[in-house]
Amino acid sequence: MISVIVSRVTEDGLFIEGEEPSSVMNIEPESRIIPIRGLYYKIKVAMINNGILVTGSAHMSFKSLCDNCLAEFELKIANENICHLYEKTDACEIDLTEDVREDILISLPHRLLCKKNCKGLCFNCGQNLNLKKCSCPKQKNKDLVWEELNKLKL
Ligand SMILES: [Zn+2]
Ligand SMILES: [Zn+2]
Repeated sequence: MISVIVSRVTEDGLFIEGEEPSSVMNIEPESRIIPIRGLYYKIKVAMINNGILVTGSAHMSFKSLCDNCLAEFELKIANENICHLYEKTDACEIDLTEDVREDILISLPHRLLCKKNCKGLCFNCGQNLNLKKCSCPKQKNKDLVWEELNKLKL
């Protein structure tokens, strides 16, 4: 649990850093992403006028399969812009775990790619084109095909 003891928070801010076990992420075992390390966080907690402000960063690494070439790769997710405001409370402790967990989840890309310019698999022979070229005749890429379709419409 990532938590803050309210009485320790000052206006100058309290720095907290640590690592939580990956189980706090509640990721299903059959998910597209499997945690390979814990959830690391580094945050500043400060008392402001009417609340408690939490800012900082969190990161975590996952094992995943590339959507493009299907190879396994390490997916590193970082959120450097954590920012949460909590109302002043009578409780002596605030639990930040759920919010930091969401900060990681919202940073996941829609497409999981092993690298930005992943070449993917050949549609024809299935060769992983990141590893080597295949000898299939060159296929037109999608954009070119659309361009030609547009010309036809004109
Ligand atoms: Zn790939
Ligand atoms: Zn091929």
